[in-house]
Amino acid sequence: MRTVQYELMRPPEIVRERSRLPLVFIPIGPIEWHGPHLPMGMDGLHAHMVAVDAAQQVGGVVLPTYYIGSETVRPVDRGPQSAAVLGFQGTERIIGMDFPDNPVKSLYFEEGTFAVTVRELIRLLKLDGYRLVVLVNGHGAVNHQRTLQRLAAEESDPPRVRVVFAMAFLPASPPFSDPGHAEKIETSIILATRPDLVDLAALPPKGVPLRYQEFGIVDGKAFDGRPTPDFTVRPEADPREASADLGRKTLGAEVERVVAIVREQAQALGLAPTSRTPAAS
Ligand SMILES: [Zn+2]
Repeated sequence: MRTVQYELMRPPEIVRERSRLPLVFIPIGPIEWHGPHLPMGMDGLHAHMVAVDAAQQVGGVVLPTYYIGSETVRPVDRGPQSAAVLGFQGTERIIGMDFPDNPVKSLYFEEGTFAVTVRELIRLLKLDGYRLVVLVNGHGAVNHQRTLQRLAAEESDPPRVRVVFAMAFLPASPPFSDPGHAEKIETSIILATRPDLVDLAALPPKGVPLRYQEFGIVDGKAFDGRPTPDFTVRPEADPREASADLGRKTLGAEVERVVAIVREQAQALGLAPTSRTPAAS
């Protein structure tokens, strides 16, 4: 299989692929609390896997993962994303998934700093001749996604360059919008790819309800404003029900979705990849 990871490639390989298709993926996700059972780099690992598989299918190169991302103070109303919908009193000052009882903090960038950093990367890649830049995002925070969407819009300059925002996750079914956090899907994805990084024994045995507050594991519907009555993870999102098989299927569908987005954008730029010579394979 072709090497697509930029940091592992030599200049002639990079030039060859760039002349064939000037497409670059940037996987993005902060170092963030994902329950006691998942690694802190969950979102970046996820974005990396989706980006690498997409590049294998569609072409282009994948930058090293940027383990950066933003979050902000949870609203004190009782609406979506608020502390109250997660079972807190509602007046606490909680930033993202950093709940008061977590023993380790997430490394969230302040939103402006995050934007400046990603914009700088995009600027450098544009100077080096890339025409399609795909921000593959593994993190669900609303302000973080809004920042990347804004950068994609601002840094796009068609027909020369397009910057595209692509979620690693599959979209939730409407009216819901949040992918959830550290629950069954993310756990399954890591089980499918890096089972050595998961420790389900760090969670109580099956049947014991998982309180959002206590574990920092939340189903997407709760973030969207529909928590369960006792503020525990819904059975359908229980990470203890995760499986490698579900992870593989989910990843496959996620990659397919990103590939479709990239193909459409490449076409809009008039980019048709020339076929690879045997030397480039
Ligand atoms: Zn995550």
